[in-house]
Amino acid sequence: MAAAVETDGPALNIGYSCNCGAVHISVSGEPIIKAICHCSDCQAWWQRDCLEFEAYPEAVLVIDRGQDKVQPFVIRNPHLSRCWCKDCGTRVFSHGTAAKTVIVPAIPGHVFEPTLHLFWQDATDSSKRRFEHDDLPKLTEPPL
Ligand SMILES: [Zn+2]
Ligand SMILES: [Zn+2]
Repeated sequence: MAAAVETDGPALNIGYSCNCGAVHISVSGEPIIKAICHCSDCQAWWQRDCLEFEAYPEAVLVIDRGQDKVQPFVIRNPHLSRCWCKDCGTRVFSHGTAAKTVIVPAIPGHVFEPTLHLFWQDATDSSKRRFEHDDLPKLTEPPL
């Protein structure tokens, strides 16, 4: 696997809001994992074929605004608390309560270089067509 491009710049800092703007979060530093998850939970929760995401240590999560609007809940995976904005319903982030990670979707316009696929067995037909010939490992279990 090609090594990630190293930069000498300041630590990456990613911030974004929910659709209504009530909640704003940011994360900083290097992600632990950059991956594409195909699990049925992600498909249902994020309402897309698959989720391009980055996972960070939970300690780097900052809820800059709207902490009281962040509503966590758990579906199926008891170790994943999915957090959305109470006002607009935007999925803001997920909290891996066992692995102590915060999972954020890849930000549009931000360079995203995934290193693996997760839950490949759940991939939709269109995802299979899109990704089956890439060089990334296709795992059926989470790495954390
Ligand atoms: Zn909102
Ligand atoms: Zn998933």
